[in-house]
Amino acid sequence: MTHRKNGNNNHTDPMEHCSFCGAARNDAKTLFSGADGAHICTDCLERGHQMLAEMQRTERARLPFSREELWKPARMKAFLDDYVIGQDEAKRYLCVAVYNHYKRLLHKAEQTRKGHRDEAGGLNEVEIDKSNIVLVGPTGTGKTLMARTIAKLLQVPFTIVDATVLTEAGYVGEDVESILSRLLQVADYDVAQAERGIVFIDEIDKIARKGDNPSITRDVSGEGVQQALLKLLEGTTVNVPPQGGRKHPDQKFIQVDTRNILFICGGAFDGIERKIAQRLNTRAVGFGQQERNPIDRRNLMQYVTPQDLKSFGLIPELVGRLPVLTFMRPLDRDALRSILTEPRNAIVKQYKSLFRMDGIDLTFDDAVLDYVVDKAVEFRLGARGLRSICETIMMDAMYDLPSQGCDRFVVTLDYAQKKIGAANFSGLKRVG
Ligand code: ADP
Repeated sequence: MTHRKNGNNNHTDPMEHCSFCGAARNDAKTLFSGADGAHICTDCLERGHQMLAEMQRTERARLPFSREELWKPARMKAFLDDYVIGQDEAKRYLCVAVYNHYKRLLHKAEQTRKGHRDEAGGLNEVEIDKSNIVLVGPTGTGKTLMARTIAKLLQVPFTIVDATVLTEAGYVGEDVESILSRLLQVADYDVAQAERGIVFIDEIDKIARKGDNPSITRDVSGEGVQQALLKLLEGTTVNVPPQGGRKHPDQKFIQVDTRNILFICGGAFDGIERKIAQRLNTRAVGFGQQERNPIDRRNLMQYVTPQDLKSFGLIPELVGRLPVLTFMRPLDRDALRSILTEPRNAIVKQYKSLFRMDGIDLTFDDAVLDYVVDKAVEFRLGARGLRSICETIMMDAMYDLPSQGCDRFVVTLDYAQKKIGAANFSGLKRVG
């Protein structure tokens, strides 16, 4: 290939033009000449270089599934049903959002590979927006479990970060980067993998401004963290310190593009029901809304809207970047009871399989399961408490039975009550 610039080579034909875009040499273009009178201008070279880089990037970021293999939302939900009890509305929202997110990535990858471009040289596609998600609902209702399960299904890197940690340290820039450090660690420092992972940001409500009332001192740090998160959620390139990454001992920063990372935020938003009620009351006046659509006042969370998140203290820009908003229902007794036995890795199933390894056939009387639920409700521990209550009941049996050579053990109500009675449960009691 020879390189001839306009005017500096008398042997060139001023009528020569780029074989790709048709630009004439006269337009002060640098033309590179190939065989058989073909030419290419620097603009087209540059564009080609960009396309190649994008294709290579896409190739590296290839998802572990093709468009055909990507499960449809209904199938994803069925998978979630195996692990998460109830929460049907949230599951549907999550599955649709996740499906659209990865469909968007696969589509983008396909288009890039095909090199689809429109006349203006841009990628010939409708840019589909990212659908970050926010799950609103009491703690211990399965928000994290749901995000974790969906990541397991998709086999993409997944990490959980606690938004309250971001507030505490106060150094906004570094804190936000730490989210990506973790994702990188999970992806074993494969940047392309990390760039299409899922981040679960827990306790997003804790970085809300405290109160709408301007007379109350504003929680500046909370707002600062929100601003920093906003950039991440929007999609930006962040310099991430590898944090002890053994593969990059000399590398100071790793660049991570957050455009295709799916953010799922969760928060209890304690007290948001008041904001929802206020809004519903205001709206209902004069429109006869209540008669047409009776409001279920026992569970106001189901009516949550982005407006309520703003009233709660999330900045509008951040709310705007979390377009998929859904809610989790508090777990009632039936749900707690199901959690003990039904999920694929239900607590009871886990104990049974642990004992089976010692050749012991373990069974729980039904009354024991009801009793465990009673205690979880009594101590206000919710689903999180089920495990610790069971541990307290099973501790002695797990200690003694393996060395006693028995082949069957039945946990009776009497046995469970004795174990719980003997234990100091005050440590498990939730204050308030
Ligand atoms: P959250 O993120 O809403 O605070 P988690 O997902 O961390 O709650 O739930 C804590 C634990 O409680 C889970 O690991 C799981 O064992 C149990 N759990 C909570 N909700 C559910 C549910 N809906 N179905 C099955 N298990 C649940």
